[in-house]
Amino acid sequence: MPKVLLLHTGGTLGMEAGRPGPLRPGPFEDALRRRVPELWEIAEIDVEIFANVDSSDMEPSLWQGLARRIHERILDYDGVVVTHGTDTMAYTASALSFMLRNLPRPVVLTGSQRPLGEIRTDARLNLIDAVTAATRGETLPEVVICFDSRLFRGNRARKLKIAEYDAFDSPNVPPLGGLGVEVVIPPIERKGGDFRLLDRLDTRVHAVLAFPGADPRPHLEIVRSGQVRGLLILAYGTGNLPIRGERSFLPILEAAREREIPVLIGSQAIKNSVVLPLYEGGAQAEALGAVGAGDMTPEASIVKLMHALAYGETYDEVRALLRANLAGERSD
Ligand code: ASP
Repeated sequence: MPKVLLLHTGGTLGMEAGRPGPLRPGPFEDALRRRVPELWEIAEIDVEIFANVDSSDMEPSLWQGLARRIHERILDYDGVVVTHGTDTMAYTASALSFMLRNLPRPVVLTGSQRPLGEIRTDARLNLIDAVTAATRGETLPEVVICFDSRLFRGNRARKLKIAEYDAFDSPNVPPLGGLGVEVVIPPIERKGGDFRLLDRLDTRVHAVLAFPGADPRPHLEIVRSGQVRGLLILAYGTGNLPIRGERSFLPILEAAREREIPVLIGSQAIKNSVVLPLYEGGAQAEALGAVGAGDMTPEASIVKLMHALAYGETYDEVRALLRANLAGERSD
């Protein structure tokens, strides 16, 4: 019998049924044993309540605790399932992928759109699929999100739908597997290198959304304040930015450059890759030291910034880490 560790962190899946009204985290393990007893037919499962929060309250310190726990325990199991709210699942998955480097076995995050106790819940199938994926052991050495019968690389996934069961997708890479009538999870070869816990994060990051009419001055003040060490700008299309008149973003980039604050430029477009030199705005940003986020998701980008700031010792080292493909989060 395969062995799986299930770490619960909260989210809709474990909340009490009963709408309307806000969903609140509720007791979890009993409900799991009562509602999905067949999970224990797939694997021997140890359940730990790591946290019990709406995922809007997940924090980098919780990611770190989770990564440490998984690092400590995963070699005693075929894989780990993390039950998690859908709202920030893609951030946690990204964080775990950077912190658990060269992971030897699967860490499978799942959640649901409706609580486990509801008749039309998607939690049962998501849990069954997640535990199934977690039993794959060394053939699935990845942090993945398992949702609505599909398996996605965790640091490529995004929550794209609020009120449909197929809430997740990985816009820039195909799913890693499908759990339909047939379970198809092609084996993935593990990259060389030791399994390491890299759990430092520098959370002094700030995100900026470009939009027509955006006032750059508040961001400029933040950059000048000394409170932030890294910046993510969600720009347009290929990484293009306003560069004319009072609305120009270039002063933000200049101020960041002077203070050796690395700037990562992503896109509001969901698919494809940022290519900074293509238009004047992006080209000027690149000339001022900004790094294009390539095809990374905004979720992976912000977490990677925290990771790179914690591990890069100089401005250039942080920028090199941002450019590199560390855990499958960006295409080379
Ligand atoms: N608010 C919930 C959460 O992210 C939503 C969910 O789990 O689907 O915790």
